[in-house]
Amino acid sequence: MITHDTLYANGAWIPSTATGSIDVVSAVTEEVIGKVPNGTPDDVDVAVAAAKAAFPAWSQTAPSERQALIHKLVDELKARAGEMLTLISQEVGMPISSAERPQIKGPIMNMKMFGDLLSEFAFVDEIGAGRVVREPVGVVGCITPWNYPINTIISKVGAAFASGCTVVLKPSEVAPLCAYVFAEAVHAAGFPAGVFNMVMGDGPTVGAALTRHKDVDKVSFTGSTAAGKIVGTTAMETVKQVGLELGGKSAFIVLDDADFDQAIPYGVRDGFKNSGQTCVAMTRMLVPESRYDEALSKIKSAVEAYSLGDPREEGDHLGPVISQRQWDGIQRYIKVASQEGARLLVGGPDKPDDLQTGYFVKPTVFVDVTAKMTLAQEEVFGPVLAVMPYRDDAHAIEIANDSPYGLAGGVWSGSEDRAMKVAAQMRTGTVLINGGRFTYELPLSGYKQSGIGRENGQYGLEEYLLTKSLAFG
Ligand code: NAD
Repeated sequence: MITHDTLYANGAWIPSTATGSIDVVSAVTEEVIGKVPNGTPDDVDVAVAAAKAAFPAWSQTAPSERQALIHKLVDELKARAGEMLTLISQEVGMPISSAERPQIKGPIMNMKMFGDLLSEFAFVDEIGAGRVVREPVGVVGCITPWNYPINTIISKVGAAFASGCTVVLKPSEVAPLCAYVFAEAVHAAGFPAGVFNMVMGDGPTVGAALTRHKDVDKVSFTGSTAAGKIVGTTAMETVKQVGLELGGKSAFIVLDDADFDQAIPYGVRDGFKNSGQTCVAMTRMLVPESRYDEALSKIKSAVEAYSLGDPREEGDHLGPVISQRQWDGIQRYIKVASQEGARLLVGGPDKPDDLQTGYFVKPTVFVDVTAKMTLAQEEVFGPVLAVMPYRDDAHAIEIANDSPYGLAGGVWSGSEDRAMKVAAQMRTGTVLINGGRFTYELPLSGYKQSGIGRENGQYGLEEYLLTKSLAFG
């Protein structure tokens, strides 16, 4: 059992004013494996005051100084990589082998890239007779989700550190243990007191207090669209800068000239990564009517090749979903999909017979899904794939765009030109072409109700900067 009862502020661990604690439950054993404080708005006040006090000096540091600290932090994170991976496998339930890259190694590389960017990033532009300087926004409140806990923290905190902003982090209270390890790494790296602060607690109390706080200049939120709307609205009361990285229902368009042997296993793998608990997962697969039966047979074999198992063990199996709450929600979607007339191809409701402990969901595929169905419109956040037939390219694009979300998507074609034409018409922040993958240089951003702003790389860094125009007499 891991117990925390502190917040991190002004360079030290100090007791939280929490009156109670939040249980951290293992996704695989269903046992309580940790306790963290259910923090209060008073905790937020302490952390914000520390961040505010640290800002004037930190914002004036040279980029090279911030770079050296970020690179030191990379070393400290590497030293704790195994510990964070073990915690994530239990609190999130993503198996260690598949989690290592997206949950740990990739994010640490992302942190390094924020440091590297400082060698070349132009903080000053000469324009006409004037000059534009890019300055840090100020105190940033970072609110993060549970599905990729360290990845989402680093996308925000890395950009904040590189820009010269100070930070108050409110990690997910559902997968909070790895965030304490992250904070220990920041402490060990030797950042000046108050540059990084962390408060723990639930969203409606601690997250909301951070969002409302008059001394917070920017809120960067990653999570559900429902909570993001509340955060955005509240942040506007004090006209803060706002970044929102929200939900998705991404479509993968398999064109009729695609090599199905490559495209379909790729699409299935993408839809099921982290048991479907991935904001950018392509959970709608659009396949041509002319090759529908062939597609279904390949989808079925790809899904049947999956096994489920203990996330603490090595292997390419899928793990459980994170919690009873998540499991219940996914079961509801499976029921509704059947009621609305989608046809079950593989998987289905309930736990697998041999995995009654742990929040396991059978990898499930519904076919004959139409755009009006709940399964085509709402984010399930579980291993449930919706297969949708289409007539021609224009119809596929119409279905793909018939969504309140616009986070990501993909297209696969035998012709790159044709794939590019389709990609240009998809209203999403990212399109993966012919098996493309996310990289940290490219900005992650949402169209429509998937968000506002960008994360990662140069574009992500810019979100933490304001421009000041200097006009000379
Ligand atoms: P969530 O919205 O329940 O919680 C996210 C964070 O917001 C948590 O820290 C939570 O405590 C806090 N929060 C909740 N209500 C709040 C409020 N009223 N005020 C302030 N803070 C509040 O989301 P989740 O279940 O942790 O994560 C899953 C969601 O996150 C999915 O919708 C997923 O698509 C999305 N997500 C998006 C991205 C992206 O980059 N677009 C990345 C990862 C996850």
